[in-house]
Amino acid sequence: MPDYSGTLGSKLPRVGTTIFTVMSRMAAEHNAINLSQGFPDFGCPPELLKLVTKAMKDGHNQYAPMPGLPRLRQQLAAKTEALYGTAYDPETEITVTSGATQAIYTAIAATIREGDEVIIFEPAYDCYEPAIELNGGKTVYAQLNAPDFHIDWEAVKKLINHHTRMIIVNTPHNPTGAVLSDDDMQQLISLTKKNDIIILADEVYEHMVFDGQPHQSMARYPELASRSFIVSSFGKTFHTTGWKLGYCIAPRQLMAEFRKVHQFLVFSCNTPMQVAVAEFLDHKDHYLELSAFYQQKRDTFNNLLRGSRFKLTPSAGTYFQLLDYSGITDAKDTDYAVELLKTHGVASIPVSVFYHKPVYNNVLRFCFAKKDETLEAAAEKLCKV
Ligand code: PMP
Ligand code: GLN
Repeated sequence: MPDYSGTLGSKLPRVGTTIFTVMSRMAAEHNAINLSQGFPDFGCPPELLKLVTKAMKDGHNQYAPMPGLPRLRQQLAAKTEALYGTAYDPETEITVTSGATQAIYTAIAATIREGDEVIIFEPAYDCYEPAIELNGGKTVYAQLNAPDFHIDWEAVKKLINHHTRMIIVNTPHNPTGAVLSDDDMQQLISLTKKNDIIILADEVYEHMVFDGQPHQSMARYPELASRSFIVSSFGKTFHTTGWKLGYCIAPRQLMAEFRKVHQFLVFSCNTPMQVAVAEFLDHKDHYLELSAFYQQKRDTFNNLLRGSRFKLTPSAGTYFQLLDYSGITDAKDTDYAVELLKTHGVASIPVSVFYHKPVYNNVLRFCFAKKDETLEAAAEKLCKV
C-alpha cells in the first residue's frame, strides 16, 4: 500500500512495539514457557463467568452510563472506604475505565498542559511517558535504587520546581515488586503539601502485597487522597486481563476534569462485565485472599529456584519476581533475555527497557501468575542454566 506519511513525522519517535508484545510473540515462535508478559495462565472464578453470561442473556448489552454502572461505583466506594478509610462519592468521584491504561492516559490528558513536568520513577511501567509526551508534558526521571528499588526522597525533592505538575507513583511496583512503606507516604506528604502537585497513583496490584505488609494506598492518607487520581484494574484482581476493565477514583474536581476526557476517549465501558463485577464484588474473600494466593505462588517459584545460579530477593508485591543473573553472565539483560528464551525455553522481560537511558542491573522480570505446573516446568529449565 503506498504510504502518505511524507511530512507527518511521528509524535512518538522513540516508541516502538512494547516489550510485552515482543517477548510474548517470541515466546510463541520458539515454543518457550511465557513468564514475560504479566497475565495469569489460569481462569477467573467460575461464578464470575456465569454472572457475565447471565448479564448478556438478561439484556445488559447496550451502553453503560458514561461514568460506569451506578451499582459498580457504589461497590467500589464501599470497598475503598472499608479497606483504606476514605469515603468517595460514587456519583462524582469514581469512574469505570477500559482498564488501568485508559485511566492513566485520561488522568494525564485531563491535567497536563504544554511544558508541565511530570516526575516518574525508573524503572517505570511503559505507558506513562508516551501519555505525558502526547499531551505536551515533560517527563522528569527519578531513579529507584537497586537492589531493593527504594525511593531516594532527597533526590526527588531536587527535581521539583514550579513547572512540576504531577508525580506518578506505582505501588506495588511493576517491574520490581517493591512496595511503598508508611515512611515513604509521609515523605510524599511533606514533599507535596506546600505546592499544587497532583499525584497519579497506579495501584493495580493493590491486592498483591506479601509478608503481612499493608498496601499503602493514597486513599489511606487524607493529605494525599485529596490530590490523587488512584487507578486500579479488575484485570489483575479477577485474573481477567483481557476484559480491560478498571477504574479511577479522585476528589470531585479532579474527577470532573477526568470525565471530560473520558467521555470522548471511550464514552463508557462494556456493560455486561460491569454488571458481573458489581455482583461479584460481594465476594470479598476473593480479593482479600489474593495476597495469600500470590504469596504462595511467589514462594513456590522462589523455592523451586533455590538450587539455580540465579540470585533472588523475594518480591514484596505484584506477581513479578526479579532474578539476578550476574553470577551467570555479564551480558546485557536485553541480550540475555533472548538467549534464555531461545536456548533454555523460558521467556522473561529485561528490566533495562523500563529506563529512558538503559540501566543494566543484570536482572530479568518473571511473572509467577501461573499454574504450579507452569512454574515447575519453567524452574526446571532455569535450574539447568
Ligand atoms: N499499570 C501497571 C503497573 C501494570 O502492570 C498494568 C498491567 N497490565 C497496567 C497499569 C495496565 O492495566 P490494564 O491492563 O488494566 O490496562
Ligand atoms: N502489565 C503487563 C506486564 O507488565 C502487560 C500489559 C501489556 O502487555 N500492555 O507485563
